[in-house]
Amino acid sequence: MNELPRPVPFTDDPDTGGFWSAAERGELAVLSCTSCAAVIHLPRPMCACGSAELDWRPTAGSGRVFSYTVVRHKMNRAFEVPYTVVLVQLEEYPDVRLTGYLPGEVAIEIDQPMLVVFESYGGKVVPNWIPQAVAPAAAPTTRQGAA
Ligand SMILES: [Zn+2]
Repeated sequence: MNELPRPVPFTDDPDTGGFWSAAERGELAVLSCTSCAAVIHLPRPMCACGSAELDWRPTAGSGRVFSYTVVRHKMNRAFEVPYTVVLVQLEEYPDVRLTGYLPGEVAIEIDQPMLVVFESYGGKVVPNWIPQAVAPAAAPTTRQGAA
């Protein structure tokens, strides 16, 4: 039914480009201030302390479900319904929350452990989340997503 390819992120933005570069290396990274060590999320060009000396810090790539929803009404032809959208807070930085996409209606619970995976489509590498219970024993992996 005339499906569209999944949308891809704009990865050349000066504020968020480091996030996407890290993803290409198989790392989930957060922006941090080298002066005061604060984590800056959402990424922006300057820390609240006034420093513009920022760096991307790799994380363990694990988190817990902060919230989720199941989408049953098709809003975008690139995504078959139903699908589950999760909002995951990082274990190391609970103030950092990132979304993930799971095909189908997935049994999810608040606080459920999740692991990052890296999906490749449209020429980009995009971090996504899967329940830790179904994750392979190894750490973050790269897998081929749908085109
Ligand atoms: Zn700072």
